[in-house]
Amino acid sequence: MLFKNIPGLEESKAQLIQAVKNNHVAHAQMFLGQPGGGNLAMALAFATYLNCDNPGDEDACGVCPTCQKNQKFIHPDVHFVFPVGATKKVTGSDVVSTSFLKEWRGFLLQSAFGNLEKWAEFFGGENKQLNISKEESRQIIKQLALKSYEGKYKIMVIWHPENMNISSANGILKILEEPPAKTVFLLVGYDLEKIISTIISRTQIFNIPPFEDEAVQGYVLEHFEVDDGKAKQIAHLAKGDINVIEELISGVENNSHEWFRDWMRGCFTKDLTKLVKLSDQFHGMNKVAQKSVLHYALQMFRESLLKVAGNEDMLRLTGAESTFIENFSKVMDFDKIAVFVQEIEQDFYYLERNASAKMIFLDLSLKIARQLR
Ligand SMILES: [Zn+2]
Repeated sequence: MLFKNIPGLEESKAQLIQAVKNNHVAHAQMFLGQPGGGNLAMALAFATYLNCDNPGDEDACGVCPTCQKNQKFIHPDVHFVFPVGATKKVTGSDVVSTSFLKEWRGFLLQSAFGNLEKWAEFFGGENKQLNISKEESRQIIKQLALKSYEGKYKIMVIWHPENMNISSANGILKILEEPPAKTVFLLVGYDLEKIISTIISRTQIFNIPPFEDEAVQGYVLEHFEVDDGKAKQIAHLAKGDINVIEELISGVENNSHEWFRDWMRGCFTKDLTKLVKLSDQFHGMNKVAQKSVLHYALQMFRESLLKVAGNEDMLRLTGAESTFIENFSKVMDFDKIAVFVQEIEQDFYYLERNASAKMIFLDLSLKIARQLR
């Protein structure tokens, strides 16, 4: 990963490079950001920069032998720890990151913006709770005790420290506080409230802001075949989360708005036959399309909230969507919208855990119908 592979975030990139130039690289840093944001990618690009043989003013060279290894995530001095769970092949004390390195590299090569669900799907983690175990902390100490192979920094990237329990966290407190020379910990976290406080207090927090719409738009244009207008619309809906782009594109292509409008009409008139029919349609979609329907609904409810709150200058919708929100917000208030948003967020969770899509959708529709009247 190179800095130039990450859209936007120019200020954060400059700060990291400046720290290297000033010889002020903190030995334990937490790259904190939102899901689907740039924090993992930034940690990977920083690791590449730190070990590059010929680093430039804005990025690693990308061509030296260490850069080449880092771009494939096979540099011997760059270690990775991430949440894992037992699979059919890997069980017991083998359930540690090093047993899944091949899958991890494949996952990163596909996208460095993925989340835990996508990771579990990628390595076949069977929806179980993923952990960074106590055994893992022993491995961390063991790996860092070795001399660096290529003479520069030894780097330990820990993805999702939220998934460390007390005993695995305790296992690395000492080394996190006083790592061996030329060793750098790069933790990549998303939610400080879920990270054990003794870990947080031993790291320097580096906040990675969400991607701006423009950066996401550029990313969409580069990676997907859509025109400027659609890319702009998707960037607006994505709210900085690169992970949801695929779902959003599917939504735009499937006329989400018409579908949503039809659905809300069914809820408003309490047309049960129609709602059952829509639930069947929803059930027949693939998971990407189902999530896209929910994302779109979430977006429309949030826009209604802005309208209800009188924040009209923040509305960036046009055409049919704008007319819809205009009318819809007349029958909405804060409490109703809050209930909808909460319900939908929960439904993402249920969908992810393979609950019946038809039941999820029908239940949601009935709740909305009840609130609307
Ligand atoms: Zn290089």
